[in-house]
Amino acid sequence: MLKTRVARHVKLDQNSRQCYQRSSGKGWPRDFKSPRAGVRACTDMKANVDIIIAGGGLGGLFAAICLVQQGMNVTVLERTKEYKPLGGPIQLASNGMGVAHAISDELAKNIRAASRPFWSTKSGIRDGITSEWMFTFDAITQIPCEDSLPFSICIDRSDLQSVLLEELNRVSTDREVVRMGTAVSRYFESDKGVEVFLENGETLSCDILIGADGIWSTVRSQMFDEVSSTVNDRFAIASYTGFKLYSGLPISNSSDYFDLGYSAFIGPDHYFVVCPDRFGRVQWYAFVKALPRTPTSTPSKKTLTNTFKDWAPEVRNLIAATDEGGIIQRDLLDRTPSIRKSWAKGNVVLLGDSCHATMPNIGQGTGLAFEDGYMLAQMLSKLNSRSEISEILQRFYRRRIVRTAVVQGLGRLNSEAIKLLTPLLPVRPVVDFILSPLLPAVFYLQFKYCYSFCPFRMDVHESRRYAEEMKSRHMVETLNALTRVNDSL
Ligand SMILES: Cc1cc2nc3c(=O)[nH]c(=O)nc-3n(C[C@H](O)[C@H](O)[C@H](O)COP(=O)(O)OP(=O)(O)OC[C@H]3O[C@@H](n4cnc5c(N)ncnc54)[C@H](O)[C@@H]3O)c2cc1C
Repeated sequence: MLKTRVARHVKLDQNSRQCYQRSSGKGWPRDFKSPRAGVRACTDMKANVDIIIAGGGLGGLFAAICLVQQGMNVTVLERTKEYKPLGGPIQLASNGMGVAHAISDELAKNIRAASRPFWSTKSGIRDGITSEWMFTFDAITQIPCEDSLPFSICIDRSDLQSVLLEELNRVSTDREVVRMGTAVSRYFESDKGVEVFLENGETLSCDILIGADGIWSTVRSQMFDEVSSTVNDRFAIASYTGFKLYSGLPISNSSDYFDLGYSAFIGPDHYFVVCPDRFGRVQWYAFVKALPRTPTSTPSKKTLTNTFKDWAPEVRNLIAATDEGGIIQRDLLDRTPSIRKSWAKGNVVLLGDSCHATMPNIGQGTGLAFEDGYMLAQMLSKLNSRSEISEILQRFYRRRIVRTAVVQGLGRLNSEAIKLLTPLLPVRPVVDFILSPLLPAVFYLQFKYCYSFCPFRMDVHESRRYAEEMKSRHMVETLNALTRVNDSL
């Protein structure tokens, strides 16, 4: 069996370059080390700390950037052999964008270059049958203006992954940090650190193991002594939300393409979320109420056409525009907040979906994972000796658990509220009468809380300028893409 200490690759002068990567101190958040402070810190303990991150998803890559920036020696192990350009758009909310800005102007610029903004678009809840708007989420753009935050954006998951990889390569110029096709199978902790056993038979050792390996985390399974996630019964590990999730990403020529942020059509039993992507594509998610363990229904398109046959034309047209092969079907699961079990044990810690998988309807999973990486790197930057590691990791858990639990709870609450609301829809005036004065305040407070972790402030004029740039580029590239599609017909 091969046993390797993760190579210490970061030389002192290299560290200095990494920590100096931001050209000016302007805009550095209050609690973030200035580049100069970073150089001082890099000459100490941190350059000798070896960190392995299991999982090179959005959370693992972002954490790697933050830790490398702090001068630590990081290796990311990713199970998949190559990153594929798959996955539709996700919302990176103001808090996630703010954290990206806080660590690197270059990263934020590259994210914007691959995104479309929520600024000057309309988002909210619509009647699933009549398609009338019931409530709008003005807070998405109102709060960033009030609190000087960057606007939320919409970006393809694979584009975001590419931008993060590019940034990781930029900050760690002397070697490849990410090892693809390398899966962690288990770990062993001793006084000397953590031994990480890989599925290919290799063993690596490090000072800290971070489990960023998603909702079916191998690292968490061992830490929490769960049944293995390879066992077929995934319902024992995560909680079923009461919905099967179908999704598609067709091209759509809808008239409100540039004006829509996202809309949730709610109707009897189910809801249907529509979110314009780029290049004329529209991401839709059908949340179909189903009992746990309801078998997969194929063909999906026929099932959905039937389920939504009396719904608004916007819903029916999107299902009709999607090929059977383009429809993805899964059980929608999240996890209950881990209040009693810490995400840290000894020198092993979890982040992202591995410890707080969140309902997608709140658009916060990635933002929370970014916040984790940012805060963990901040806290580890204060490390003076190896003996402090486990205490810092416990403190990290204590600082993150309340916020992540609240956001997880809000995601679930939204979903449960929709379940309660839909049977009342036939008496719309009653729903409007009861909820109209209430919901704007509820949504405002919800967005306010979600956006409240933002270590970066941006002048509102600058935010608007960036958003306008994104919007103009989005319009040009979409019109070009639609012309190409029409020409090819
Ligand atoms: C349908 C849907 C829509 C969503 N929409 C949004 C949205 O709009 N906004 C938002 O913020 N969030 C959204 N989310 C949530 C978001 O996708 C996640 O919160 C985010 O991707 C979490 O990142 P992660 O790195 O923790 O986990 P993941 O992205 O799951 O990454 C885990 C990585 O670990 C790797 N891995 C697994 N096991 C091992 C192992 N043993 N060894 C090595 N590598 C391993 C996997 O291959 C994977 O690359 C959505 C989620 C879903 C399902």
